[in-house]
Amino acid sequence: MAAIEVPKTQWAQVLEEVGGQLKYKEIPVPTPGPDEVLINVKYSGVCHTDLHALKGDWPLDVKIPLVGGHEGAGVVVARGQLVHDIEIGDHAGIKWLNGSCLSCSFCQTADESLCPKALLSGYTVDGTFQQYAIGKAAHVARLSKDIPLDGVAPVLCAGITVYKGLKEANVKAGETVAIVGAGGGLGSLAIQYCKAMGIRAIGIDGGDEKRAMCDSLGADAFIDFTKSKDVVKDVQAATEDGLGPHAVILLAVAEKPFQQATEYVRPRGTVVAIGLPAGAYLKAEVFSTVVKMISIKGSYVGNRKDTQEALDFYRRGLIKAPYKIIGLSELPKVFDLMLAGKIAGRYVLDTYK
Ligand code: NAD
Ligand code: ZN
Repeated sequence: MAAIEVPKTQWAQVLEEVGGQLKYKEIPVPTPGPDEVLINVKYSGVCHTDLHALKGDWPLDVKIPLVGGHEGAGVVVARGQLVHDIEIGDHAGIKWLNGSCLSCSFCQTADESLCPKALLSGYTVDGTFQQYAIGKAAHVARLSKDIPLDGVAPVLCAGITVYKGLKEANVKAGETVAIVGAGGGLGSLAIQYCKAMGIRAIGIDGGDEKRAMCDSLGADAFIDFTKSKDVVKDVQAATEDGLGPHAVILLAVAEKPFQQATEYVRPRGTVVAIGLPAGAYLKAEVFSTVVKMISIKGSYVGNRKDTQEALDFYRRGLIKAPYKIIGLSELPKVFDLMLAGKIAGRYVLDTYK
């Protein structure tokens, strides 16, 4: 395809100080290095991770000034001289893992999110809350042109992450997974992946809007943690034989559910920690962990293969999680709603509004 004209400047949301206000302003369009592509981001999802970055929640330094965002879907408009396997005009996605060294033992075994030199979009390198973003060519997600760029944006982090989490949970069709934080961005997609895989899903979250959304997505049961007198009992009672779910996928941005999960998970079950509440600890009673033979593990995004598999579910129409579109200029409003726990599903930013 012929070259696409790229402007010199673009609109972006820039964080100039951790914990500070975002500035919506014009900044230069970056130039891709030899192994990179420049993507004209059309839509970007807003993940709770972006809010953690803004608030400085984690023991990991963010780049400052920072353009956040890591669920960006768009069109390749320029590429470095070493890039041969992606064309100008192709559709591509920028995900959390922007790049990795490709040669360490983790990269060699496709655990590239564990690479000590991993580059993180919207955290250690600029991300997708701008109109033109850079990604390492080896890592950008390949998107077929029949996929809508707005709908696929949340799959680029939320989708990949929950799909990988379900793999790590070792659950089979017919078994039951409790999804904690089911009404949020990751949770709404987790319900969809469970349904697509024939796995029963128990949604746990708070409020009628999130209950209605989980019901409409096909959750087999919903437990409102703000109303339940005993979440542990209610989750177990929602399983076929009352013995608890085979796995728990923890997506909530709160510490308490991380403590409760081992209490209601089924013997031999797996608890997968994915959500990253600030300063939180996992705590489990040793006796029941041992005699119930429970596995407790973390799961962190996904590799390139997980990415393409998660995207393929979307392409086949199996994943239709709800999202609302809002302009990039209105990103602070999205963070206010997120902080208040008022987002059912995901917000997707139109980078030209
Ligand atoms: P979100 O804000 O959209 O959803 C979080 C949900 O948790 C909300 O619906 C909220 O109501 C619910 N919740 C809060 N307290 C709860 C409780 N006690 N019980 C049940 N539900 C509760 O956030 P998101 O974008 O879905 O992200 C979720 C978390 O996952 C964040 O911490 C994010 O940083 C993390 N994350 C991790 C990875 C990874 O690779 N491990 C990847 C992406 C995001
Ligand atoms: Zn994310």
